[in-house]
Amino acid sequence: MVTESNISKRTLICDLDGVLWRGDEAISGSAAAIAKLRAAKFKVIFISNNSYSTSETICAKLTHFGVPAQSSDLLTSASAAAAMMQNQSSAQGQKKCRAMVLGGPGLRQALVDAGVDVFEPKKTGAAVPDAVVAGFDPEFDFAAVDEAARAIRSGARFIATNRDPTYPVPGGVVPGAGALVAAIAVASGCEPEVAGKPEAPTVELTRQRIEGYAVVVGDRPSTDGALAESLGIDFALVLSGVTSAIPVLGGESIPDPAPRWVSEDLAALVPHLLEISDSIG
Ligand SMILES: [Mg+2]
Repeated sequence: MVTESNISKRTLICDLDGVLWRGDEAISGSAAAIAKLRAAKFKVIFISNNSYSTSETICAKLTHFGVPAQSSDLLTSASAAAAMMQNQSSAQGQKKCRAMVLGGPGLRQALVDAGVDVFEPKKTGAAVPDAVVAGFDPEFDFAAVDEAARAIRSGARFIATNRDPTYPVPGGVVPGAGALVAAIAVASGCEPEVAGKPEAPTVELTRQRIEGYAVVVGDRPSTDGALAESLGIDFALVLSGVTSAIPVLGGESIPDPAPRWVSEDLAALVPHLLEISDSIG
């Protein structure tokens, strides 16, 4: 909502993979683009469905690529999953929740910070947890799927960080959290509640961070574009990630109708966003 107090503010909700970097490769010009937008009074919130890395690791990577950032600038699917568990704990009269976690250090850290008691699959004999929380996990294996599916069938809540089918790396893609979550869904016969973009938990956390005019910049219409649509704000699609004019297998195509802006990359988008910024005053 635009009010007198925030009319001169702007918020850039900026996806990471495919916008600032591809895997460990920086996307040329993106750090300078963020600096220009920050100088034009944009508050930048970095948003990612990556639940594997901790906030500290992601901020260190941003800073290494020339984009100074701190944890409060970041919103990940791990923090959204943790907020869901925190709400569950409140609903249970602050009873500490227990979660079986299939994921990386970022997911475990976010849950611990939210007061959740976390444990890994393969801890045989453990009581049925309040929830199974699953995200990107390169250690994922048959035994973990088996234990997660058993817990869900026994009544545990099933939370997925996100359902992105793939994850962009230099030269192609690897299976994303969605591919692993699908295995648990099939084995348990239950569909998960999803924390990350473009689902409600992340929409709500993002909405709380917006000040004044806001725009989502991302490379994936199915998540970043859908997030912008749920928030009722502009979407700027960049073609530096998984979306291309001529779609490739495993990638996405430019939606029809197209979003407000379609740019080669973040650097090419900057003049358009500065024009908006100037018009706000
Ligand atoms: Mg992306």
